[in-house]
Amino acid sequence: MYYCVPLRRTHSRVGFRDSARRFGAFVFWLGLGCAPAPSTHPPNTDRTAFDGEAALARTAQLVNLPRTLGAPARGQAIEELANLFAQATKEPPTIRRQQLTGTDPKTNERYPLTNLIVDYRPHARRSFVLATHFDTRPWAEQDPDPAQRLRPIEGANDGTSGLAVLLELVPVLDRQLPPDIGFTVIAFDGEELGRPGYGGYCAGSLALGKAIGTGQFGDLVEAEFGIVLDMVGGRGQTLPMEPNSLQTHPELVKALWGLAADHKLPGFVGRVHRTGIYDDHIPLSDAGIPSVLLIDHDYPHWHTQADTLDKLSDESLASVGEALRLYIVDRYAP
Ligand SMILES: [Zn+2]
Repeated sequence: MYYCVPLRRTHSRVGFRDSARRFGAFVFWLGLGCAPAPSTHPPNTDRTAFDGEAALARTAQLVNLPRTLGAPARGQAIEELANLFAQATKEPPTIRRQQLTGTDPKTNERYPLTNLIVDYRPHARRSFVLATHFDTRPWAEQDPDPAQRLRPIEGANDGTSGLAVLLELVPVLDRQLPPDIGFTVIAFDGEELGRPGYGGYCAGSLALGKAIGTGQFGDLVEAEFGIVLDMVGGRGQTLPMEPNSLQTHPELVKALWGLAADHKLPGFVGRVHRTGIYDDHIPLSDAGIPSVLLIDHDYPHWHTQADTLDKLSDESLASVGEALRLYIVDRYAP
């Protein structure tokens, strides 16, 4: 992630799924004198909370997948990640891959990158997007020890915690959402390719936004909203509202922070952070998917060798996963 306060614009789009929803409002039951047909889907009563301990165990599993830019086994790790998303639901999702090349703005070194776009229930009438980056930083320029700054970081929080929350949330949503609601999980590559003073962040989401602009992956703009996670597992974290998110999708930010207050979810604080952040939510919003960012702005181990598993807590992961579950399940409650 990169600190800045760009000016945002808002989006208003009416897509196929919106039109279908409006049409649906005019369809009503005409079965006078007939017994109603039994529903093919039993009422969904599962309201199990998000499991923070499972998310922490998932983070421990994922930190072993080499995802740092330039790692030799990286391609294999990305396929392993795709398999984990494929196995998260009974009905397998459709997985699309966007291949691109990223460039280190400081050295001009080029890296092959892959975004994973995982569509659960791809034929659903309505949908939304959940996203995070899966690449981990090859440098640690914030490390207090200059000798450590050229080594890759573990990235337990930055590059892994968001992924773990999404992997654990997918099966929960699959059980708790009505069958006509679909969702796309996007695991972005190349978020960490930026350098302070040079830019270059969010290579994956910028490339996806560009592709959406040319009609490729154009179906994604039908998504009703997007939520991006980045650094959401730090022990004792604070999650203030992110200014760009508030500008792009104020209703969503207020709804998430409001329900977090109602349910006393730890970490969410009812103030706006002083600094806007450039993260994957901005290219997504620019592409037409109004998206917000959940992030611990002030994670003390950001871009240092100390961003390791022991700095995370199941309570923090649970808080974020549960906020998402509550918002999404309630929004689409029949
Ligand atoms: Zn980062």
